[in-house]
Amino acid sequence: MKTENYENRRKYALVTGASRGIGRAVALRLAAEGYDVIVNYLSNDAAAAGVADEITASGGRAELLRFDVSDPVAVEEAMDSWENRHPGDFISVLVNNAGIRDDSLMVFMSDEQWKHVLSTDLDSFFYVTRRVLKGMLSERRGRIVNVASLSGIKGLPGQANYSAAKGALIAATKALAQEVARRNVTVNAVAPGYISTDMVSGLDEQSLKASIPAGRFGRPEEVAGAVAFLVSDDASYINGETISVNGGLYT
Ligand code: NAP
Repeated sequence: MKTENYENRRKYALVTGASRGIGRAVALRLAAEGYDVIVNYLSNDAAAAGVADEITASGGRAELLRFDVSDPVAVEEAMDSWENRHPGDFISVLVNNAGIRDDSLMVFMSDEQWKHVLSTDLDSFFYVTRRVLKGMLSERRGRIVNVASLSGIKGLPGQANYSAAKGALIAATKALAQEVARRNVTVNAVAPGYISTDMVSGLDEQSLKASIPAGRFGRPEEVAGAVAFLVSDDASYINGETISVNGGLYT
C-alpha cells in the first residue's frame, strides 16, 4: 500500500547483528541520519536494549527484532511480525552485518565449523535479503549494504570457511546489483580490515598492527561512515561495488 511520498514517510533501516561492534555503530549512525532503526541480534538482549536506549536518548527511533539470521524460518517469522506491526511501511535500507568467525587450519576444521560460518555469514544474506527485497522492488527504492571482509578479497590462512563466505558475499553483491538496479535498488559491500570489536579480541593486536599502513586497528564508526555513504543519495550511481575500510592494508 503506497500512502505518500517517500520523503514524507518514516524510513526504516534493518541492521543485522546490531547489538555489538560494527552493527552497533551502523545502527547509531543511521539513527542519527534520521532512520527508524530495527536492531537485530541473536541472543544478547542487554546489549541490544542498550543500543536502542542510546538511540532513543539521542532523539532517534529504534526497535528490537531478535532472530537468528541463519535460520530461514526464523527470518520469515520475524519479518512477518514486523510487517504486521507496520502496515504500509517498508524497509528501505538493509545492512547485512551479522557474522561470526570460527578459525582453524583446514586440516583440523570440522564440518560444524565450516557449516556454522557459511550459514551465519552467507546463507543469512540470502534469507534476509530475499525477504526484504520484495518491499524495495515494489516501492522501487532500496539500499542494501553487505558487510564482507578483507578475508573475502585476499583470503586469510586459518579462515577458509570465513574467506569462502565473505568472498561469495562479494560475488552475490555484484550479481544482485545487476538484477535490481533498474528498480532503483543498490547493492554494495564494505570490506573491513581489522576493526576493534569483540570479534578480534583474541587476536595479537600488537603484531598485527605492524602490517597495517595506518598502524592501528580501525574503529567500528569508521566502517559505519562507509555504510552511511553507500545508503546516501550521494551513492545513487554506485552499484555492485565493494569499499575496503582497512587502513591501507594491501588487498
Ligand atoms: P561482533 O562484535 O562479534 O558482533 C557480532 C554481532 O552479530 C552481534 O550483534 C551478534 O549478536 C550478531 N550475530 C551473530 N550471529 C548472529 C545470528 N546468527 N543472528 C543474528 N545476529 C547474530 O562482530 P563485529 O566485529 O562487529 O562484526 C560485524 C561484521 O563485520 C561481521 O559480518 C564480521 O564478519 C565483519 N567483519 C568484522 C571485522 C573485524 O575486524 N571486527 C573485519 C571484517 C569483517 P549477539 O550480540 O546477540 O551475539
